[in-house]
Amino acid sequence: MTASPPANQVSLADFQLLIRRMYHEKDVARGVEGTFMWLMEEVGELATALRNGSHEERLGEFADVLAWLTTIANVVGVDLSQAVLAKYGAGCPGCGRFVCTCPDAGKP
Ligand SMILES: [Zn+2]
Repeated sequence: MTASPPANQVSLADFQLLIRRMYHEKDVARGVEGTFMWLMEEVGELATALRNGSHEERLGEFADVLAWLTTIANVVGVDLSQAVLAKYGAGCPGCGRFVCTCPDAGKP
């Protein structure tokens, strides 16, 4: 794990550490309920950007949603890399394949 993200890419683990270093004390003081409300507000802003925003506005809103999601993971002690690998590292959780073959009526 690097101390700071490379110029053109960042891993999920590095991003979670970056968010922890920047915001953890404030995030813990705010608590999970208040932080979840900020996430929902950012999801709404992402919806607006997807509907009628520019590509640059969408970039910003995707980053904000990921940042607030990551903040909540930090507050409750969830390692996002571990969570993602546990759920998706061996393929689709529904059918177990790396190209999903679940029926179209299902969620995946
Ligand atoms: Zn599947």
